Amino acid sequence: MTGITYGDAMKIPGDHIQITTDTWTEPFWQAAKAERLTACQCGACGHFRMPPTAFCPNCQSQKVNWPALPGTGTVFSFAICNKSPFPDVPDFVYVPVVVDLDGAPGARLVSNLVGMPAEDVVIGMKVRVDWNDIRDGWKLPIFRKA
Ligand SMILES: [Zn+2]
Repeated sequence: MTGITYGDAMKIPGDHIQITTDTWTEPFWQAAKAERLTACQCGACGHFRMPPTAFCPNCQSQKVNWPALPGTGTVFSFAICNKSPFPDVPDFVYVPVVVDLDGAPGARLVSNLVGMPAEDVVIGMKVRVDWNDIRDGWKLPIFRKA
């Protein structure tokens, strides 16, 4: 891409990640704990929305479904971060990514892409979900090249 070599995109250490949930987000995290990727879908009109919110932006309904998604998607956007947030790991490289989720038209998930050279990530690349164990027994969806 630019001729710069960053090294492999790495997983954020799970003990550094803590989540909070509420009525509207907990079903997403409970599904993730079971390694099932889902997205918030309006129970009235079928419109997908991520992150989950109390009211459908399309029809204002509060009914929601949480369908199981195939766990695949497409890179919509990404960044390469090579300023380590961890003083003890100076060469830490991570790639925040925005993924268009298969099976949930219009829904995008902000996540991290791991397990490949950061300089090889491209928009439009197919990815597949994986899971990162984080604090308090929760799991965070992350993505790898499909
Ligand atoms: Zn709706």
